[in-house]
Amino acid sequence: MSEKEPFWKRKTLFEMTPWEWESLCDGCGRCCLRRLIDKDTGDYYVTCVSCRFLDTETCRCTAYERRLTQKVTECLPLGPLTIGEYYWLPNSCAYRRIAAGKDLQWWHPLVSGDPETVHTAGISVRGKTVCETYVPSEALEAYIISEKL
Ligand code: SF4
Ligand code: SF4
Repeated sequence: MSEKEPFWKRKTLFEMTPWEWESLCDGCGRCCLRRLIDKDTGDYYVTCVSCRFLDTETCRCTAYERRLTQKVTECLPLGPLTIGEYYWLPNSCAYRRIAAGKDLQWWHPLVSGDPETVHTAGISVRGKTVCETYVPSEALEAYIISEKL
């Protein structure tokens, strides 16, 4: 494949540099919504309740470097080896799409050149969430959303 092709078209997830890997995240924030998972069936239900570390305006993590040591038990390290295990990631997720051999979509900041397009296209969770600090875990069920993100 031509070197002129963007990196996500000519590299696998395993071949990407740390910068390329990080830039692949579209900033949608969808993976930072609380999910309820049925341990018996593996079914999951997405809520509109966001992690306390999610900046709900930028949809970026405010504790990215320290998130895995902050006892955010729902926050799991995403890497080329683990992507297949995280079946609950949204279909729109760039890592999931690349792992499945798909291209990025037009609204992805790497394609559009504009970090706002993930928001204007309605993909991100901006304006759609309530922070988990306001929702007791036993009340999560009431916040399940119908959209299968
Ligand atoms: S769902 Fe994927 S692309 Fe969106 S914020 Fe999470 S890791 Fe990034
Ligand atoms: S700690 Fe994890 S789940 Fe919470 S906002 Fe950061 S990346 Fe998302």
